[in-house]
Amino acid sequence: MKRIGVLTSGGDAPGMNAAVRAVVRKAIYHGLEVYGVYQGYHGLMTGNIQKLELGSVGDIIHRGGTVLRSARCPEFVTKEGQKQGIEQLKAHGIEGLVVIGGDGSYRGAKALTELGYPCVGVPGTIDNDIPGTEFTIGFDTALNTVIDAVDKIRDTASSHERTFVVEVMGRDAGDLALWAGLSGGAETILIPEDPYDMESVKERLMKGHERGKKHSIIIVAEGVMSGTEFAKKIEENTDFDTRVSVLGHMQRGGSPTAADRVLASRLGARAVELLIEGKGGRAVGIEHNKLVDYDIIEALAMPHKLDLDMYRLSKELSI
Ligand code: ADP
Repeated sequence: MKRIGVLTSGGDAPGMNAAVRAVVRKAIYHGLEVYGVYQGYHGLMTGNIQKLELGSVGDIIHRGGTVLRSARCPEFVTKEGQKQGIEQLKAHGIEGLVVIGGDGSYRGAKALTELGYPCVGVPGTIDNDIPGTEFTIGFDTALNTVIDAVDKIRDTASSHERTFVVEVMGRDAGDLALWAGLSGGAETILIPEDPYDMESVKERLMKGHERGKKHSIIIVAEGVMSGTEFAKKIEENTDFDTRVSVLGHMQRGGSPTAADRVLASRLGARAVELLIEGKGGRAVGIEHNKLVDYDIIEALAMPHKLDLDMYRLSKELSI
């Protein structure tokens, strides 16, 4: 392999830039040429492709977002769209592609693989919902953004003796809510993986109140319902003065944490190694702090596993 491409796709995540940098530098280190595909699959179909040099990825390791920009591209879901993408890659002499993104982006990479084009998926999403890896690039940064907000909300919740419902992202996964709830000391965490029971939420609030607690923080994953909806339910069922905070897109931005930069560097570099070894159709990940890779088709078929022991622990520590 002499020339590879790299793109970022779907929801952006802090650390994607560090991954792009790793792909470019690792490839050049091994004597390959690297092309950046701008605007995800949209840029792939339209040929928004440019050569990247060592300096193209200078000064980006600490930046949030993605310098390659991202896009949603419904046309790429069709076979015609995918074939058009492959034609663009071939026209540029690009023999393999690194796709950095979430599960939708992985499905795009899988589609290219099934058409015989070598792709390697690198998990980049704040949701931590990609199978075949314990952590995704961006999750740690988003988590730290959330707990910074929760710590601040706790100050005002305590001054005013209020119950705060904090809605966090995560799509259909509860990872961000769970990790934020445990590290932020939330009284209750609602995740899509475990149907909530209003009576037990109410009971926990009452118990806390009886032992003199001045405030409560409830973290709701967006995959359960909106924070506003849940706050309404609390007000209907209790007398607690409740406020809502929807953290929204701030969770997707910011300078990546050291953990995300390291993860992105390791995964991006591993993706290049796989292409050099002639192993397309793989998805890279990290398990027990070791790099792993799976067949991308098998990876997409694996269920995402939330750490249920941690979920139980969060309940035990918030009695
Ligand atoms: P994420 O990668 O963050 O999950 P999306 O789900 O929006 O974000 O997916 C990003 C892009 O991946 C989509 O806009 C589309 O171009 C492509 N994609 C998603 N699903 C498929 C699919 N089944 N086949 C081919 N491409 C897909």
